[in-house]
Amino acid sequence: MGALLRGGRRLIERWAPRADLERALVVCAHPDDVDFGAAGTVAVWTGSGVEVAYCVVTDGEAGGTDRSMPRSEMAALRRAEQRAAAAEVGVSQVTFLGYPDGRVEGGLALRRDITRVVRTFRPDLVLAPSPERWWDRIYASHPDHLAAGEAATCAVYPDARNPFAHPELLDEGLEPHTVAELWLMASPGANVAVEITGTFDRKIAALHRHRSQMPDPEATAARVREAAEGIAASAGMPEGSLAEMFRRVPTGGA
Ligand SMILES: [Zn+2]
Repeated sequence: MGALLRGGRRLIERWAPRADLERALVVCAHPDDVDFGAAGTVAVWTGSGVEVAYCVVTDGEAGGTDRSMPRSEMAALRRAEQRAAAAEVGVSQVTFLGYPDGRVEGGLALRRDITRVVRTFRPDLVLAPSPERWWDRIYASHPDHLAAGEAATCAVYPDARNPFAHPELLDEGLEPHTVAELWLMASPGANVAVEITGTFDRKIAALHRHRSQMPDPEATAARVREAAEGIAASAGMPEGSLAEMFRRVPTGGA
């Protein structure tokens, strides 16, 4: 595992496979968020035997530009696209929470619903959108992302581990669970990079499953490749490498 300090900026550590990572849960606001932010990493994980599940807060029914399509049809289409994209990177468990796209609020109901998924799947790691706005990349900080990220963070600590949080979950037979690590997508304070050179084609295959959101698939692939090259360079990887980056927060222990 290497680390590098560039231009006085934060250290970005290179992630290496670990035996104590068996299950990872990705929480995101919309269908396609995980594929833009983390599908290469998900493919690395599933390729090394990690079981990965997705929890998508909305159905993404406010997406696309076709005003003639009923929004309920768009929701069904986007759920199907997300399931197909998940399959491209080895993920078969996808839970949709059905919150309204564009109006997500990180309140107690969402915390409870994410906590329910955490206590059911019992992941070692939760990957979620950053609840912190990134002023250098404002489009990554959609309000739904910030709200989903805040609720997921609260679900990891303290809700999932506290038996007295959302007591109705105990009534459902869901015992407390402590998640060891929280990873945040699109974080202004990224500190870990995952090399995805070997899984990049699968990330693009997953992204291309979101046909309703992809007017120019080749342009999207080129843009995503350029970003992945930049991340790899900032993490000190050799030229030609591709990477995704995250903020890693230890959440085990206390
Ligand atoms: Zn989104």
